[in-house]
Amino acid sequence: MTQPTIDSRATAETGSEVPKPYLSVIIPIYNEEESVPDLCRNLFSVLDTIDTTFEVICINDGSKDKSLEILRAEAALRPELKIVSFRRNYGQTAAMMAGIDHAAGEIIVSIDADLQNDPRDIPALLSKMDEGYDVVSGWRKDRQDAAIRRNFVSRVANRIISKISGVELHDYGCTLKAYRHDVVKDVRLYGEMHRFIPIYASWMGARVCEMPVRHHARKFGKSKYGLERVAKVILDLLVVKFLDRHFVKPIYVFGGFGMLSLAVSGMVTLWMLWLKIVAGISMIETPLPILAAILFLVGVQSLLMGLLAEMLVRTYFESQNRRSYSVREIINMVED
Ligand code: UDP
Ligand code: MG
Repeated sequence: MTQPTIDSRATAETGSEVPKPYLSVIIPIYNEEESVPDLCRNLFSVLDTIDTTFEVICINDGSKDKSLEILRAEAALRPELKIVSFRRNYGQTAAMMAGIDHAAGEIIVSIDADLQNDPRDIPALLSKMDEGYDVVSGWRKDRQDAAIRRNFVSRVANRIISKISGVELHDYGCTLKAYRHDVVKDVRLYGEMHRFIPIYASWMGARVCEMPVRHHARKFGKSKYGLERVAKVILDLLVVKFLDRHFVKPIYVFGGFGMLSLAVSGMVTLWMLWLKIVAGISMIETPLPILAAILFLVGVQSLLMGLLAEMLVRTYFESQNRRSYSVREIINMVED
């Protein structure tokens, strides 16, 4: 396994050498007070036995119960346990994003706080990463949730996501996943998008695979989600797909639609003229003039929106000095 490296920034700022852990475990936590003690015990009993340096970052997502107090007490005993506490509840995706932002490890493993994932799967995830994968996604093959309302719906949703994204996984929703820090440090997550990290990563050229993991029924508390999540996930997928394919050239989408609309408007106009001149029917008696006018306006509007979108994209890339590509490796050259 890779040796821990020294964080040069920390060295420069503090004058002392702060070793970077190899593994960062990130855990989103919202009202899980009953689960936290078992979670810490189970997690550390695994992490203490594997031969690697690690940190555990718990993100308290505005819990209203005693989760934070309990975490605080655990953190006093274990310096590897770090806590990021939100001012209010921002949702699991924001919590995961914060975890990624604060993680120092080369490998990031995300896991649920509710004891449904099993930390004993972490060593297997790590050895899979050692085989050279950038993302290893857990697959709750024997999922212990409500049969129809959760498992069936999620199976259908997973199928749809696979089809639309072109990234074949059985279980996007499983939080237990491992990522190479490099691959995820630049993803920005909104809505329900944490489950799409493997898709993003794969589109960026990362090597993604999946691995069956254990799953347990929820012991304490209840799930924070209902059926409405399925709709959110599908809508988020549309956004992700659009942004991936067309983000850099939105005019192709808006402009393409606009040109199509203008072309149909032109054809309707010709049809009107044909009716008038050849068939001798007055076009005022048909809905065609309205149709032609609407299509014309929609076409022009779409083209203009495409131009606006192009300006937005330029602002995005140029103001933040972003690149429209992502580099895996640079050889014989000093990376900036
Ligand atoms: N979670 C969170 N913020 C939220 C909702 C959930 O941090 O607003 C955490 C929650 O504490 C748990 C994980 O996200 O650790 C998954 O939530 P849950 O178990 O309710 O989802 P399910 O397993 O039912 O899909
Ligand atoms: Mg759960």
